Amino acid sequence: MKKISELAEGVSRGDRRALARAITLIESARADHRAEATALLDALRGSRQALRIGLSGTPGVGKSTFIESFGMMLTGQGLKVAVLAVDPSSTRSGGSILGDKTRMERLSRDPNAFIRPSPSQSQLGGVARRTREAVMLCEAAGYDVVLIETVGVGQSETMVAEMSDLFLLLIAPAGGDELQGVKRGIMEIADIILVNKADGDLKPAATRTCADYTGALRLLRKRPQDPEGFPKALLVSALEEEGLKAAWQEMQALAEWRKANGHWQARRAAQARHWFEEEVRHGLLARLSDDPEIRARMEQLGTEVAGGSLAPGVAAQALLEALRAPK
Ligand code: GDP
Repeated sequence: MKKISELAEGVSRGDRRALARAITLIESARADHRAEATALLDALRGSRQALRIGLSGTPGVGKSTFIESFGMMLTGQGLKVAVLAVDPSSTRSGGSILGDKTRMERLSRDPNAFIRPSPSQSQLGGVARRTREAVMLCEAAGYDVVLIETVGVGQSETMVAEMSDLFLLLIAPAGGDELQGVKRGIMEIADIILVNKADGDLKPAATRTCADYTGALRLLRKRPQDPEGFPKALLVSALEEEGLKAAWQEMQALAEWRKANGHWQARRAAQARHWFEEEVRHGLLARLSDDPEIRARMEQLGTEVAGGSLAPGVAAQALLEALRAPK
């Protein structure tokens, strides 16, 4: 495993090419690559900690513009920024909106930034593992901030929130009934709502939208992991690069408070447990589909269930027994 220790060393040094290669390795589905990836992650485990920020918003709300301006502001302060994307549409079509090369052009040329598009995978479960492991690699490579971007479609947001320290929701100014557009579940996982496009003609609408969200957030149940005043809504203009410093200060204040009060550590611990359980679930499902004998048994039991000769619960129990049997 000389190759792996060299790769680990390259990643620790912050070598971007080594980091890119390491991410390619963890994205590979090949069994031998998987073993190497595990060894690599183990070698790098817990070496450094970044601030992991989840970011979500519907297409067109300004995510790439925001990441570019916000990322440039952070690198301007001497911080190293990594951007990872989770694009649920690429899991179905193979084409990735978030993988578009023309996005974040300035940031992608910044030597202190690292941008990686969404892995294309058949299931969100696979994407989750790969993104989570990529976050760990970016941390190990010395990035101070890891931004994990996703498009607003529920399931992928929950997944990104499960690997973030802070979760941002980007929204655009709109008229009247826009609050209905944001699902309650997403409001509940957001730590900061950023109302983007607060510039030019859109400024009055943005200000109104921000006030509406401030009101709506006050109605949510107080969460133990929040200091007074959080979650909160803020105005930004990604295009005019306004409000970004203030937003960053709020993020830092929230992160510091959570660290000082044990919530940060508790959240990471709960996330680690969650991903462990997910991995077990994932592994069991993989065994179900990879093992021809078990697959045949499942097919046979499924036919019996469909035919009415066996109850679903009894059939499931029989299959689980087969899984448990030593091979
Ligand atoms: P994404 O699909 O969420 O990544 O959105 P983009 O960053 O591609 O932005 C979508 C459109 O909104 C583009 O035409 C941007 O120029 C525009 N946009 C993004 N941020 C702002 C902003 O702060 N103000 C204004 N006026 N337009 C913006």
